[in-house]
Amino acid sequence: MHVLRGLEANLINEVRTQAAVVDLRSDTVTRPTQAMRAAMMQAPLGDDVFGDDPTVNALQDKLAGLLGFEAALFMPTGTQSNLCAILAHCGRGDEYIVGQLAHTYRYEGGGAAVLGSVQPQPLTQDEQGRMALSDIVGAIKPDDCHFARTRLLCLENTWNGHPMPMDYLHSAQVIAREKDLALHLDGARLFNAAAAIKASGETVASAAGRITGHFDSVSVCFSKGLGAPVGSALCGSRDLIQRAHRVRKMAGGGMRQVGLLAAAASHALDHHLERLVDDHALAQRLTQGLQGLDGLTVRSAQTNIVFVDVVGNRGPALLDFLKAHGVLATGLIGLRFVTHLDVDAAGIDHTIGCVRQFMAQTTADPTSAKAGGPY
Ligand SMILES: *Cc1c(COP(=O)(O)O)cnc(C)c1O
Repeated sequence: MHVLRGLEANLINEVRTQAAVVDLRSDTVTRPTQAMRAAMMQAPLGDDVFGDDPTVNALQDKLAGLLGFEAALFMPTGTQSNLCAILAHCGRGDEYIVGQLAHTYRYEGGGAAVLGSVQPQPLTQDEQGRMALSDIVGAIKPDDCHFARTRLLCLENTWNGHPMPMDYLHSAQVIAREKDLALHLDGARLFNAAAAIKASGETVASAAGRITGHFDSVSVCFSKGLGAPVGSALCGSRDLIQRAHRVRKMAGGGMRQVGLLAAAASHALDHHLERLVDDHALAQRLTQGLQGLDGLTVRSAQTNIVFVDVVGNRGPALLDFLKAHGVLATGLIGLRFVTHLDVDAAGIDHTIGCVRQFMAQTTADPTSAKAGGPY
């Protein structure tokens, strides 16, 4: 009895501390819901290296079906998923064309080069993450012994909280076909893009399928807006997924009774897709609450990410102020706020109130207020 009381008290304390913090650093901070935990506990399991885990197999089939591919492969992380894709598309001495600031170039430890001897060809991108089509065509190497073989084009959607324009996806697909390049999507937040572009009455899943229809392979994360604790997946043709499977093994990604995690991902696909619009609405609420404040520039998000530029070197002080008031965000000059399953309207309103209070009681550091825009 005493033990139980103690446990209960601990649980309540844990819930209180978690509730007290409005954690807007990333959508990766979500904790599995009770229903998700229940799905995990009930999942039938087997050794996935033998192909024996029914929950993993069902998840892979479900996702492939949802996004219109022949096959899918469950992965521990999005980084490993992208690596497996690049190494399945490209061999030693091949290259992939990729955005200068894209995750698959800049934020994955150079894995394709380190582990696959695949050379990146980075290109500059515009605000929407687009490489100019003429730059892409210009970067494709001629068939000549001086050059690496250009095999693959990598895009990323969403880009900085924006869904990529559909006409760009179409143009990229046309170029890829014409030039015999494979086309890969780093869709860590694919379903956020889908929730942003979906027509009224259309499901998020169906809009996601319209995006992925342009690509030969797509990587998605379950551990971000979908609220699963761990996991990503790569989709593609049966042949491509077979090659990716070999790379995953090489990279140490062969997991055993991993249906425990696949169950969480599967639960997320069943229950957390359509609700992404709620996260987007909260990001809009935050945007509106901060717009027009002196010294702030809010870059309006179309999904669940809001960027706020703070004039006059006040970014770090604002972050500290927010932290002292139970709100976590990231950034230095441009601050980033990400909404997700574990944030509600009250948390967003509290955040807006804190930012307003901070801006009202501080002034810009004049020494840093150089001409021409946000710092
Ligand atoms: C999060 C993310 C990934 C994968 O990250 P992991 O932490 O390895 O799961 C890949 N691409 C983009 C754009 C991301 O945001």
